[in-house]
Amino acid sequence: MTISFVFTPPATAGLPVVGTTEQFPVRRIYCVGRNYAAHAREMGFDPDREPPFFFCKPGDDASVVPVAAGTTAEMPYPTITANYHHEIELVVAIGKGGRDITAEDAPAHIFGYAVGLDMTRRDLQMRMREQGRPWEIGKAFDHSAPIGPISMIAETGEITSGAITLDVDGKRAQSSDLTHLIWSVNETIANLSTLFALQPGDLIMTGTPEGVGAVVAGQTMVGSIAGLTPISVKVI
Ligand code: MN
Repeated sequence: MTISFVFTPPATAGLPVVGTTEQFPVRRIYCVGRNYAAHAREMGFDPDREPPFFFCKPGDDASVVPVAAGTTAEMPYPTITANYHHEIELVVAIGKGGRDITAEDAPAHIFGYAVGLDMTRRDLQMRMREQGRPWEIGKAFDHSAPIGPISMIAETGEITSGAITLDVDGKRAQSSDLTHLIWSVNETIANLSTLFALQPGDLIMTGTPEGVGAVVAGQTMVGSIAGLTPISVKVI
């Protein structure tokens, strides 16, 4: 029997897949907090290797801003905040679900990789942090997840090193290397899959390096990771 909904279900967010005409359908977006030591320090924390911690962004088409190759996507400056921050991150796309995945088996669950931004209303996040409240209003707002095309792991191989950078209006703001991840991609998948059953379509934003900072309307951010399609996003 065909299911009849009381209104049209929301559209699924899709990301381009490099080398194909098909889209990757997004389910959830899991984000890792403080996964580069120098960024943990700039946020006021000791970067000792505590277990990874996670928060989520919606995976819907209001949250995800797909950025096609060779284009500049536009997204509005969000409401309420006066301190809107960029966080450049390696995004891992899950192609095969599972729970209790080992780090050794993790690559078999990866569909591919992309460049993304964990956009943050830093003032709201900090206010919630100080009050011991959830981070959603700082992290999970509309247009908070601009993400570029996904390169398939079959083409790239495992990505464990390489430069990760973010320029704002042509000026370098963030610069590091994926080797500085405290928890590697495979270790992150292993840990996350003990907490949630991963499903095809899930994305993992793996954390940002140091150099986070504010952007305002009119500024353009260009994010790059070695071997992946760069993204360009303008705040309007
Ligand atoms: Mn982040």
